[in-house]
Amino acid sequence: METKEFAAESKELLNLMINSIYSNKEIFLRELISNASDAIDKYKYYALTSDGKVENKPEYFIKIEVNKKDKTISISDNGIGMSHAEIINNLGTIAKSGSKDFLKKFKEAKDKEDLNIIGQFGVGFYSAFMVAKEVEVITKKYNTKTAYKFTSNGESTYTIEETTKEDSGTTVIVHLKDDTEEENYSKYLENFEIEDLVKKYSDYIRYPIKFDEEIKTQKKDENGKDIEGEYETHIETKVLNSMIPLWKKNKKDVTDKDLNDFYKANFYDSEDPILSIFINVEGLISYNGLVFIPSHAPYDLYSDNYEKGLKLYSKGVFIKDKCKELVPDYLKFIKGLVDSSDLNLNISREMLQESATLRKIRDNIENKVISNLKEMKDNDFTKYTKFYDVYGNYMKFGIYTSYGAKKDLLQDLLCFKTLNDSDKYLTLKAYKDEMKEDQKYIYYATGDSIESIKLLPELESFKKKGINVLLCIDNIDEFTLLAMHDYDKVEFKNISEENKEELTEEEKDKLQTLEAENKELLDNMKEALKDKVDEVSFSTKLVDSPVCISTKNGLSLKMEKVINDMPKTGNEQDVKSIKVLEINPDNDLFKAIKVLAKDKDKVGDYASLLYDEAMLLEGYDIKDKENFAKTLNKVLIESLKK
Ligand code: ADP
Repeated sequence: METKEFAAESKELLNLMINSIYSNKEIFLRELISNASDAIDKYKYYALTSDGKVENKPEYFIKIEVNKKDKTISISDNGIGMSHAEIINNLGTIAKSGSKDFLKKFKEAKDKEDLNIIGQFGVGFYSAFMVAKEVEVITKKYNTKTAYKFTSNGESTYTIEETTKEDSGTTVIVHLKDDTEEENYSKYLENFEIEDLVKKYSDYIRYPIKFDEEIKTQKKDENGKDIEGEYETHIETKVLNSMIPLWKKNKKDVTDKDLNDFYKANFYDSEDPILSIFINVEGLISYNGLVFIPSHAPYDLYSDNYEKGLKLYSKGVFIKDKCKELVPDYLKFIKGLVDSSDLNLNISREMLQESATLRKIRDNIENKVISNLKEMKDNDFTKYTKFYDVYGNYMKFGIYTSYGAKKDLLQDLLCFKTLNDSDKYLTLKAYKDEMKEDQKYIYYATGDSIESIKLLPELESFKKKGINVLLCIDNIDEFTLLAMHDYDKVEFKNISEENKEELTEEEKDKLQTLEAENKELLDNMKEALKDKVDEVSFSTKLVDSPVCISTKNGLSLKMEKVINDMPKTGNEQDVKSIKVLEINPDNDLFKAIKVLAKDKDKVGDYASLLYDEAMLLEGYDIKDKENFAKTLNKVLIESLKK
């Protein structure tokens, strides 16, 4: 017998399990059954693909036995089993990234009492230590001779010794903790408790979960009469689970509750999904699928380690856990599974990538998800809004990363808060339907928040005319709208883009005259701002503000910032937008400065301050703060002297 230390991370996780504050200790049974089922999956897969090297067994099953006297529950499978090295690798160290993430989350969380997050992670085997004072694992790997016994009380060490076992597979024996005032561990020895737990969490396991139930019956005499006070016990083996995978059932026999329960039990979530889709496709390619959208973003969705994918089965045999080929990137948040009879069991990892069948299934799933979302949007916009708050950017991402190819598919799923009602989302269709008769564009404004966008001086004329504007606060928004170019033939236009081509002849004439009359002023301002702006001109966008900054040729200030903030991969140059300082000819400030046109210094000071003011209102910091303070002080002193 050898004694070994658990790996450091395992010790931490075990410690958490032993002292678990998690109220839902019963999930240990689900975890052990799920491991048993995985082990059979693996065995069966080898048996079916090894050309006879691994023999198919006449029957695959999981068995639960309870010993009331010894206070043990054992869970056995006749699956793949573990070798000596695998025991050390799989049980002595944390095998799963999910458990590592869990530990990390747990350490980060401040309020540990409150933290009921174990349920979100498949912490697996170690969860047994929530209810066990000792766990034994007796296991024999397929096609080997020696069996091993692993024993641990979940503290810092475990032992491994050789033992004997007939068939390949694993038995996990859980020695229950003694009951305490707070916790009744003995309840897991009761028949009905085991039956309930299996029904609740493991009904869909595709192998029979057999349960040896102790049945007590009244002892009878030879005349068939009860002998008072005397009982006989015998063992009856029951199968506790229905075994029909939910996705193979008839759609009409599957309720929303069934789908939600399945999702929660299999994808470690305590909340119902926001969308569940049951798919049964028969035709050129046949498959069954279950697809779910979690109601909150999976905890690691934004991390680089996040793996998208659906579980993949072929003719009911499990193939892989995260088949990424089934999910387009922009839908990476969906969970679920696909079972197809058109996939070869022997399909290898490389072939998965190329499989035309998988590609067709992926396209089909994509269309199903999108059409279900459209339905949700049309029938329950409040619910859709909840979806959109969490995943809306992924819809934009889908359009942007396809360079607009997915525009037709996704554009009606987009919505925006707008100038007219910044609390509500508006779809593009609704925007278009509400457009003014002579309105040529779908206008949008960009900024870091709704509040900062509302401060944009260039919004003033829109407010005055009652023209609605999309408020774009996400970095990806403008890139998406540009990739789309138009919605239903109406082009998008950033309100900060110069608008000369939109003006009436009359307005154009007016501006030309103004510019001719004030040429010297404009030239002097431009000279003073030559490092900052490309042009100084008069504006038709402003009502109250004296100036604003607009850009030309499609690259806005926000895009310039987003692009330049991105990590550089090579020696790319920063991009630069073409900036115009636009002056409001009706503002008193202009009228006052106008008379100073010849005084280059003064005009320069005012121009510099006005530029800084405009940039501030655009949501940017003043770059040269020292110059700003000096100039402001100088101008103040001059004005006070008068
Ligand atoms: P996982 O979620 O990966 O199953 P666990 O901590 O539950 O994480 O188990 C760790 C590893 O131990 C599994 O990935 C598997 O390789 C192995 N294992 C656990 N239970 C069994 C079993 N009944 N039969 C064979 N291997 C098992």
